[in-house]
Amino acid sequence: IAFSSLQLDPALVANLDSMGYEAMTPVQAQSLPVILQGKDLIVQAETGSGKTAAFGIGLLTRLNTRRAYIQALVLCPTRELADQVGKEIRRLASVIPNIKLLMLCGGVPYGPQSGSLKHGAHIIVGTPGRVLKHLRKGSLDLGQLQTLVLDEADRMLDMGFYDDMAEIISATPVERQTLLFSATFPDTIKQISASMQKNPERVCV
Ligand code: AMP
Repeated sequence: IAFSSLQLDPALVANLDSMGYEAMTPVQAQSLPVILQGKDLIVQAETGSGKTAAFGIGLLTRLNTRRAYIQALVLCPTRELADQVGKEIRRLASVIPNIKLLMLCGGVPYGPQSGSLKHGAHIIVGTPGRVLKHLRKGSLDLGQLQTLVLDEADRMLDMGFYDDMAEIISATPVERQTLLFSATFPDTIKQISASMQKNPERVCV
């Protein structure tokens, strides 16, 4: 199925074409219609499935660059994964003028990140520990977030990030869209979905 069958910004569709994304992958075909309706979604998918573009296209479609606050947050278990996700969203967003994406991961100095946050951002991609540190210190405001993505949620739980995730989520609006991606579906994932999502649809590929 072609991306042009969805109600997407033509510039975004043209960009997908130039990236060589001609047809949707199965994850994209099943999840994008639901994501574009603004619904919560739980997706069982592995790396390589095209899940990053699925949530990336979704969050970019909801985003308004004329508003200077953070509208989307993607939480990833590791800096390596966050870097990959950040790169993919930047490529997707390259046709959207004035869009700002900031990476907030651990293992790099905190100060420059705070400085960048002062200049404003629309999208944050990061790891739970560092995102929480910015929230607690007051350098990050998620009060107007629209889209929250929990990527590789099972790995984040395995790494002991449950409390950090819960605290981050408590700083976001209740009316947000929450998209949860996980390779596996243990009970802990079902619990986190029940406490953090509203009537999520489920996609399994
Ligand atoms: P991911 O599962 O998000 O890590 O994506 C796996 C790889 O698939 C990435 O290298 C993407 O660039 C690529 N990809 C994502 N969507 C498509 C698509 N619709 N057509 C071709 N390649 C894609």
